[in-house]
Amino acid sequence: VSRVVIVGSGQAGVECAAALRHNGFQGSVIVIGAEPDLPYQRPPLSKEFLKSVEDSSLPLKGEAFYGQNNIELRLGERAQSIDRPARELVLEGGERLPYDHLVLATGARNRFPPIEGLDPASVMELRTLAHARLMTGRLDDLKHATIIGGGFIGLEVAALLRQRDIAVDVLEAADRLMGRVLSPMMSACFVPIHEQMGTRLRLGAVATRIKGRKVMLSDGDTLDTDAIVVAAGVVPNAELASEAGLATDNGVVVSDRLLTTDPAISAIGDCAAHPNPYGIGMIRLESVQNAVDQGKCVAARLTGNDHAYDSLPWFWSHQGATKLQIAGLAMGMDETVMRGDPASGKFSVFVYREGRLIAVESVNSPADHMVARRLLSARLSIPQDVAADPASDLKALMP
Ligand code: FAD
Repeated sequence: VSRVVIVGSGQAGVECAAALRHNGFQGSVIVIGAEPDLPYQRPPLSKEFLKSVEDSSLPLKGEAFYGQNNIELRLGERAQSIDRPARELVLEGGERLPYDHLVLATGARNRFPPIEGLDPASVMELRTLAHARLMTGRLDDLKHATIIGGGFIGLEVAALLRQRDIAVDVLEAADRLMGRVLSPMMSACFVPIHEQMGTRLRLGAVATRIKGRKVMLSDGDTLDTDAIVVAAGVVPNAELASEAGLATDNGVVVSDRLLTTDPAISAIGDCAAHPNPYGIGMIRLESVQNAVDQGKCVAARLTGNDHAYDSLPWFWSHQGATKLQIAGLAMGMDETVMRGDPASGKFSVFVYREGRLIAVESVNSPADHMVARRLLSARLSIPQDVAADPASDLKALMP
């Protein structure tokens, strides 16, 4: 392989390019990114950035990095199609870029639920720096915001709006918060956390209709609101792959090597549905860890170190003063054990499947999180009574 083209200048794409050079790859590396901004981190957009634009440091790499590492970064350009027989990526505008290996790192875009009267142009969303700039520009005038979605991003934004004394209603269609990822035990712990911040949580409620400043809810209520924030999950950007005839199913389908159904094309990060050894079946993760480690995994394969993707999933979310960290995947869980007292603000939930530890969810307990990462990576479990006893020394169990 002497010419690698990467579509997407987000966390996964940039990490892959950097890792190729780190591993000594001598060929050409071209990154095509639709967004005009120097590649940046997304997590601060719903955390530090919304608090203070000046205090946040967003770029993934300094501007000089790309030139110094001979990475051709083409920002503000969109890939339109893949000509697989010719091994060429076709850009909007018609330019054709030949590749020996193509990496799809196209990420995801926000999902807009089908709500009557929802006009994507007049609501707020948070995925890109451009969205965050728009949102910060509007915060000063807000008295009340309605957040559609009680997932990580919706709740992070809710906490930040409350810090500015903006009244917030969060609508969550499911009966619990962050239900796609967290154990029910941990979801329940976040209800008082947000209620104490003054957020109004409406579980099991969906917006059925938006008309002007009014949001009609499934429970019969109507909210009068200044702004609507849509944070209802994402859709993977898989069209480039599907239109080129590659398998897609909730993302671009890849093997344990992160190869698509075409051996000259890989897919990584938020857009890739992959078999994860810590999960069940094919999964798609939306996390920095996954984007970074998948970028590295593909770069390793392209530089002679072929191995299956087997990194432990981990994640974090900051909601006000509450710092949540997750190690492992709670899929298929059947038992949970609480360590510590939620009322103290510091605690962890240990999650088990068939008697084995599969995930640990920690609140303001970074030591528990670090131990969990070591144990889970080493495929070690802890007896439930040990996990539940806050006096037990977990560090002593580390490999
Ligand atoms: P992305 O970062 O989405 O990058 C994909 C890029 O590809 C985009 O720039 C897109 O414009 C571009 N692209 C798509 N199609 C094309 C095309 N045809 N041509 C050219 N370019 C194209 N994760 C955590 O672990 N912890 C957190 O606290 C956390 N907080 C987050 C907060 C917010 C507000 C958001 C939005 C995400 C957060 N995440 C967090 C998730 C994390 O940021 C993502 O998982 C990660 O950015 C995924 O990287 P990616 O490269 O796969 O995709």
